[in-house]
Amino acid sequence: MKSALHWFRRDLRITDNTALAAAASDAESVVPVYVTSRWRGGHRWTGAPRQAFLCGSLASLDKNLRSIGSRLVVREGDAVEELVRLAREAGAEVVFTNRDPDPFGRKQEERLAGALKAEGRELRVFKDVAMHERDEVRTGEGTPFRVFTPYSRAWAKLPKPSAGPRLTRLTTPEGLRSEGLPEPGRWGLEPFRGGVEPGEKAARERLRKFLAGPILSYAARRDTMADDGTSRLSQDLRMGLLSPREVYHRARTAAEGAEADGRDSVWKFISELVWREFYFQILWHHPEVLDHEFNPKYRGMEWDTDAQKFAAWCAGRTGFPIVDAAMRQLEATGFMHNRARMITAMFLTKDLHLDWRMGEGFFMQQLIDGEIASNNGGWQWSAGTGADAAPYFRIQNPWTQCSRYDPEGAYVKRWVPELAGVAVRKILAPPADGKPLVPDYPLPMVDHGTERDETLRRFRETAT
Ligand SMILES: Cc1cc2nc3c(=O)[nH]c(=O)nc-3n(C[C@H](O)[C@H](O)[C@H](O)COP(=O)(O)OP(=O)(O)OC[C@H]3O[C@@H](n4cnc5c(N)ncnc54)[C@H](O)[C@@H]3O)c2cc1C
Repeated sequence: MKSALHWFRRDLRITDNTALAAAASDAESVVPVYVTSRWRGGHRWTGAPRQAFLCGSLASLDKNLRSIGSRLVVREGDAVEELVRLAREAGAEVVFTNRDPDPFGRKQEERLAGALKAEGRELRVFKDVAMHERDEVRTGEGTPFRVFTPYSRAWAKLPKPSAGPRLTRLTTPEGLRSEGLPEPGRWGLEPFRGGVEPGEKAARERLRKFLAGPILSYAARRDTMADDGTSRLSQDLRMGLLSPREVYHRARTAAEGAEADGRDSVWKFISELVWREFYFQILWHHPEVLDHEFNPKYRGMEWDTDAQKFAAWCAGRTGFPIVDAAMRQLEATGFMHNRARMITAMFLTKDLHLDWRMGEGFFMQQLIDGEIASNNGGWQWSAGTGADAAPYFRIQNPWTQCSRYDPEGAYVKRWVPELAGVAVRKILAPPADGKPLVPDYPLPMVDHGTERDETLRRFRETAT
């Protein structure tokens, strides 16, 4: 084939990129393209932190492509229209892309395939975002799994795709029009500087550091919020700065020669990668989870929408130090520790009784790693309505969670600096004297015991 396009979406790398490697091997010249949308201002599913990380990662992708003789072509507008136009301009017979597991991406693929076909061109779509996708992992009856543990067992039994090399050469024709590399201002967003460094090189360095040591103590340290015991790779997997295959195989290599504890830790880490794929397959088979409770028993559940309560939660001013620390970590860095995500999500749904969709949307706007499938899965798990969710009656107590996972108050004091001088025991329980911990810090906005009872009532009434 003479000419092809590679449509970059959530695979912003030149190492082990399945569709890009196929395009490079099948076509004499390849146009690598990214299409930015025209929306401006508020967006339900993204916000300044993730768009800033995207922009940095696109700049780094362009640099990497230039180092192998190519460059990134950027177009703006409706992806299908722009790709068809560019395919015409470049005389491309085929558009290569990696499959997007989200319903929005799937729809685009369907539209694009139809539009290209009408002109005698072709769309070729590859598996890349996950090691196993769609209905590859099935029960004995051939149906998709609804529960994680049997899914993960079946997942582990399947042969794993290997990781490919870094591309060394890509020939791209001259003279094609390109917009400049995007900046957050293009979408009317403020710059965001709080996140980790974008780009494939920085992601690979994070992976190297994690594999060089922390992975072997992952199981013991992953829940301690003040500790840096997790990989911090979620945004890299989200944007495709690293392939899941590379992360998986290199993690397995790290286990070789390790003590039993170290090997267990590596498997614990790999099981988190499996959760990511579990939620992809849930969303693939049940796109309705974006609007409804996964568990039909809880559809029609009574959720509140109180704007003031929601604003206090978003701003990290609930008077629950552990919740406030987590929300402020999110605002400052575009990231929140996994344990903290569970605590804040349970607090929103079980202590404030607010609709989980409000929290889900806020997380998508704030998180750099915002991933529709995992975020929805995490929210529905916490709300007690999801696939393999925490049973509704297992309601975490935010005070106990703080004592267990931040016993020294280090996480709280880092993110809620006004509490830095407060004795730790006062952070771990509601104020006994009914007075604020420091003058400008709010009193706990609700009583956990009372709200727990209210949650139990709502769930019982819906389920019967
Ligand atoms: C309410 C809620 C919302 C969440 N929203 C997102 C989201 O938008 N994007 C996202 O990537 N993760 C989400 N998670 C999962 C998890 O919190 C993050 O993946 C994790 O905190 C990222 O940090 P890490 O890379 O250091 O993770 P590690 O602990 O090092 O895990 C390694 C990788 O496994 C995957 N992973 C880990 N835990 C989970 C999980 N529970 N579900 C799915 N994948 C997982 C991630 O890709 C992660 O990078 C959410 C969890 C909850 C409870």
